Amino acid sequence: MPTILTHVPVSDGTPNRTALEALTRARQIAGENGWTCAASVFAPDATAAAETLGRYGAQTVYAVSDDAFAQPLGGLVVDALATVIREAAPEIVVMPSTEGMKDALGGLAQRLGAPALPDVVAFSASGTAVEATRPVMAAKFRATVTAEKPADAPVLVSVRAGSYTAEESAVTPEVIRVALATDPASLKASLREVIASASGGVDLADATVVVAAGRGVRDESGKALVDELAEVTGAAIGASRAVVEMGLFPPEAQIGQTGKVVAPDLYFAVGISGAIQHVAGMTGSRTIVAINKDPDAPIFDVATYGVVGDLHQVLPPLIAALREAKGQ
Ligand SMILES: Cc1cc2nc3c(=O)[nH]c(=O)nc-3n(C[C@H](O)[C@H](O)[C@H](O)COP(=O)(O)OP(=O)(O)OC[C@H]3O[C@@H](n4cnc5c(N)ncnc54)[C@H](O)[C@@H]3O)c2cc1C
Repeated sequence: MPTILTHVPVSDGTPNRTALEALTRARQIAGENGWTCAASVFAPDATAAAETLGRYGAQTVYAVSDDAFAQPLGGLVVDALATVIREAAPEIVVMPSTEGMKDALGGLAQRLGAPALPDVVAFSASGTAVEATRPVMAAKFRATVTAEKPADAPVLVSVRAGSYTAEESAVTPEVIRVALATDPASLKASLREVIASASGGVDLADATVVVAAGRGVRDESGKALVDELAEVTGAAIGASRAVVEMGLFPPEAQIGQTGKVVAPDLYFAVGISGAIQHVAGMTGSRTIVAINKDPDAPIFDVATYGVVGDLHQVLPPLIAALREAKGQ
């Protein structure tokens, strides 16, 4: 039976949220076409994640267990995925469009001679063709692109965060253990150091709540309010390019065309005007709350809820109300 394979990266045993969204879509495509919905997972103990992937409908889980996967090394992921693809012979390989997987997607396409549809927000399969929608030109337009499956390789698709909603549909998966064929010591790249994320411990790209700061935050007193709102909501902290360039927030916090793409359930835009280059990185957010003192700020065009006011007036009572609601 033809197979659609979703690669699910895990971090400390927790599957990547965007990958579970992509797996949900892959499961729908498998159902529509009478295909097998499969998933791959690489971790020191990959079989431990298999049950979770079964909850999201993976009928077959290709588990590659190796201590080397404790560190995110792109070369190993490409090698392991190439091995799994040889074994599963899927029509389509789906993966989340995360920073780590961007490297792997290119490497895998080159290795397999496979067509790649990167960073899509929707995709479907019809026969041997895959059709996808991709944001282009700073997400101002959407392009429809298609790829035809070659005889000896799958079509590779990476899916943007927030494009689909992860929904459970439990099955008991068949777990196929696959050995890692590569000696990690033979890799040309090695990981020297992991520098802790500055986004309050919560990974920005995977966060369900993001508090993003713009130039309106201006200084340490504004930043303290942003930090407090993030702390009370359990959010990751993001930033516009303006405040990154001011040095108030680190470069890895930047959201937008030249920063990260995020799609949390809840996005607070604090003192952000809503320039197209910023909006390109956050329009996939499910609920957007904008706080800005300018009623004509373009951020209100994309906001679900807008508060017109000075953030120094708006945030303290909001934080106090959230603390009270949480019994803190
Ligand atoms: C090629 C290119 C790529 C770019 N990539 C990115 C990118 O990836 N990400 C990105 O963010 N930008 C990017 N930019 C920059 C982008 O064009 C904007 O300049 C930037 O997003 C503006 O940041 P901002 O909204 O924080 O600042 P501003 O546009 O200056 O807006 C500040 C806002 O804060 C409000 N404000 C001020 N004081 C207060 C207060 N006390 N309370 C409440 N509100 C207040 C103001 O009304 C204003 O709307 C890029 C630009 C280019 C040319």
